[in-house]
Formats: sequence, C-alpha cells, structure tokens
Amino acid sequence: MNPKDLSRQELERIGFLAERRHGNFIDGAFCESRSGRVLPVIDPASELVVAETPDSDAADVDAAVAAARRALEDSPWSRTRPADRERILFRLSQLIEEHADELSAMETLQSGKLQGVARMIDVGFSAEFVRYMAGWATKLEGSTLQPSIPFPPGARYHSYTQREPVGVVAAVVPWNFPLAIALWKVAPALAAGCTVVLKPAPETPLTALRVAALALEAGLPAGVLNVVCGGGTAGAALCAHPGVDKVSFTGSTPTGRAIGHAAVERLARFTLELGGKSPMIVLPDADPVAAAAGAAMGIFFNQGQVCSASSRLYVHRSLFDTVIHEVARQAEAMRVGSGFDVTSQLGPVVSRRQFDRVMGYLEGAKREGASAVTGGARARDAGCFIQPTVLVNVKPEMTVVREEVFGPVLVAMPFDDVEDVIRQANDTPYGLAASVWSQDLSSVHRIVPRLKAGTVWVNTHNMLDANLPFGGYKQSGFGRDLGRAAVESYTEVKSVCMSV
Ligand code: NAD
Repeated sequence: MNPKDLSRQELERIGFLAERRHGNFIDGAFCESRSGRVLPVIDPASELVVAETPDSDAADVDAAVAAARRALEDSPWSRTRPADRERILFRLSQLIEEHADELSAMETLQSGKLQGVARMIDVGFSAEFVRYMAGWATKLEGSTLQPSIPFPPGARYHSYTQREPVGVVAAVVPWNFPLAIALWKVAPALAAGCTVVLKPAPETPLTALRVAALALEAGLPAGVLNVVCGGGTAGAALCAHPGVDKVSFTGSTPTGRAIGHAAVERLARFTLELGGKSPMIVLPDADPVAAAAGAAMGIFFNQGQVCSASSRLYVHRSLFDTVIHEVARQAEAMRVGSGFDVTSQLGPVVSRRQFDRVMGYLEGAKREGASAVTGGARARDAGCFIQPTVLVNVKPEMTVVREEVFGPVLVAMPFDDVEDVIRQANDTPYGLAASVWSQDLSSVHRIVPRLKAGTVWVNTHNMLDANLPFGGYKQSGFGRDLGRAAVESYTEVKSVCMSV
C-alpha cells in the first residue's frame, strides 16, 4: 500500500474530510479570515491537500488581540480563583487524553510524524504537561521582605511581592511538535492568569484549532485562548501588536531575532526558543553500543526535526569506527514510510519546502567533500521522505556542520583530546543542548560546566521533562520553556511597600 492510500484510509477512519475548511478561533467561536484567503494543509507523505485554514492578516490579528484583551480585563476569567484555573487546566489535560486518537491522527496527517511519536509525545506528553502546569496555578507565590528604609526617622514598613499575570500573550509556534510546543506556551500562560493569541505554523494548524475548542469545553471562558492561522504576515502582525504584553516564540533563529527586535522596540516581554546544532560527545570509556543507539535516536527521532537533535557527533578516535558502523547499521535497518503505517520507523519531513532544504544541505555537503556512510538521498519515489544519513569526512567549517539542517542528517567527527572536543562543541553560535557519554563520573562533572548549552544530558539525549527548564544559551534563545521558570515568565513581580 502506498502512503497516499494509507492517508486516505486514515482520513476516513477519523472522520476527517479531505479538503475541509477550518476557520480561526476567536472569542470562543470559529470564523473565516477577514480577507477570505486560505492556505492549504498538506500531508507530506502523500502530498495531498487535506484541509484549508485562513491565511490571516493584521485585521484578524486585531480581532483576536481585542478578544484576548477583553477577556483579560473584564470577564469571568479576570475574576477566576487560582483553583478555578487549576481545575480548568486539569480538565483540559483529561480532554486531550480522551481525544488522543483524533489529535494524534491529525498530527500525523499534517506533519507526517509517526503515530507512536504523536501519541507518546505530541499528545501524551502534552496532557502530562498541562496537568503539571495546572498545579502551578495554585502555587505561584511572592515573598515577605524586611525593608531598611530610614525615612522619616522612626518609620516602619511592611513589604511583600506578588506575582500578577503579564497580560495578553502572543504564542508563535513551529511545525515539529505542533500541539506540544503550543501547549508549552499556552498552559503556563493560562496557569498564571494570562490570555493568549496562538499562531500555529501554516503547515500544522489543525491540532491548535482542535485544542482551543477542547479548552472551551473544559471551561475556559471565550476569548481567553484564541487561534489565528497563517504564516509570517500573521506572525509578524501579532508579535508587533501594541495590545500584546508578551511574545513567546519557538522556531528558527532568524525569525526569533526579528521577533526579539520588534518586542524590544516597544519593550514587550519575550521568550525565544530557537535553533540548535547540539553536540554529542562520546568519551573513550563510554559504552559504544549505548552511545550508537543514543546517537541514532538523537538524530533520527521525529525525522531529525528536533531543535535539540544530536546533529554533531564527536567520538573519541579509539571508538569512532565501532560507533559509526553501529549508527549506520541502525540507520540502514530503519523502515521509511508513512507515519500511519505502524511498521514505519522514519516518516517524511514536514513539507516539500523542508525536503528541498534538507536535500540542499546534503548536496552542499557532498560538494564540500563530506561522504555518506549511509543515506544521503531521497527515500521512496513520492512524498517528502529522506534517507537517514550519516556523514563523515566533515570539517568544522563546512555548512552542514555549522548550520541547523533540521532533518535526519548526522555529521560525525573523531577527536583525540578532551580539551579540543570541548572547544569544538562550543564552537557554534547555538547553545541549546549537548550530551556527554562516559562511565567516568569525574570526567563528566569536569565537562558539564564547560559546555555552553541550556541542557546537558549524560548518557542520554533529548529527554525532556515538564519540571526541567528548557531553553538556550547564545543564539539558541532567551528565557526558558517548561518548569517553574516557564510559568514565572508569564508573570510580573509587583513589590508592595506599606507604611505601618
Ligand atoms: P520559522 O521560524 O520561520 O517559523 C516558525 C513560526 O514563526 C511559524 O509559525 C511561522 O509562521 C512564524 N513566522 C515566520 N516569520 C515570522 C515573523 N517575521 N514574525 C513572526 N512570526 C513569524 O521557521 P520555518 O520557516 O518554519 O523553518 C525554517 C527552519 O527553522 C527549519 O528548517 C529549522 O532549521 C528551524 N526550525 C526550528 C525549530 C525549533 O524548534 N527550534 C522549529 C521549526 C523550525
């Protein structure tokens, strides 16, 4: 069966009609864009159009921000108790679980990802994360402080801080984990009492729209969570909107930089989670079999479309051949196919545009002298499928070593000296994540503080948790998603000083 048939069959199974047209979700209801323009949602396995969503512009953004502002300032939401927000978020997490079949099928359909990944990460982790953030709604706190103000003589003061919602939040998210990353922004913002305008990526708007309707069902008042579909035009209008108090963005570094500039211009708050080129370092005493499995998982998971993917592999020369041979063997054994096929181990990349981008990096790498131990070409005759690829004979200055490919492409280099590999690992404008593989605790503890990365894994890679802050050093971002750090970033701290 070819991927086209599988997708059609799956569409029917979930009752999702091909070429169905969806609206934006503003003030608790679906609506057309003001211009009537639409963008296609394309299944990357079959390259069929499976839906259409609005190609929104500034007029739609205005309507959504106005709804979010009204809900923030004068609505049942503005009067909710923390316990009400906790209950609503908890109910939303249950609804996400109850709709796991539908949401994960939508995720595979629009992004191509494997059903197993969609279920476990995009839906399962999302539900868990919303539940985790529900708990924070009742636990945000300030502190009581003892001031030493000497005026007027003999005066006494009582001071404390309290956290207040930052206001209207613009959440602009990418296509690699459409629902999960949307909820990484939406759930802490709602826990803190904010209202949100969410703009999903044009490739993957369906689960964002569905979850907004589920949130309404969970008890969220109209206007608290709005979804505006579209591309860069809608995103730029939203991020620059004077009615937005905070922008939270995940995506590429160039777009993040532009968003940061626009936010700084009007001193809006912002969180940016951007690209990466994360190194994985295998020391001479590492278990080579575990390291090879970790490297394969670290780069081929979700077709390599993971901001923290282990895209640069540095292996001590004594283990290099063994590890590379094993990673290549695992890559060759991977079954490439539709995400709906339960036997598939690698799906298509998200779009024809991303396919061309990744293929461009592969051609460039070959021109610059890299060689593919395995892969290096498209997989299958149709659809956006790319072979899992391991490149060697690469040099630090090559484009494929320096830039984020965001596809199933690993570059592997041997090293002789630990000081040298630390220098190479840090020799990048990015600083999102890194991993160290070793049995020697002392070596690990010496290396971890020297890696300029927001997350360092030891003998594992790409393991995220609701409780662990996630974000980048250097050009990989600004601020943190996940954990307490995330929910606090959707608040302002107010200091209160009272003369007593
Ligand atoms: P992008 O950063 O341009 O898009 C991400 C989101 O930002 C989308 O919702 C998009 O519509 C929106 N957007 C685009 N221009 C905007 C603007 N000027 N103002 C506000 N919002 C805007 O990423 P892309 O074009 O989809 O992908 C290009 C590359 O970005 C990928 O190949 C990959 O390297 C990287 N990427 C990284 C991540 C990540 O998680 N760090 C995710 C997706 C893509």
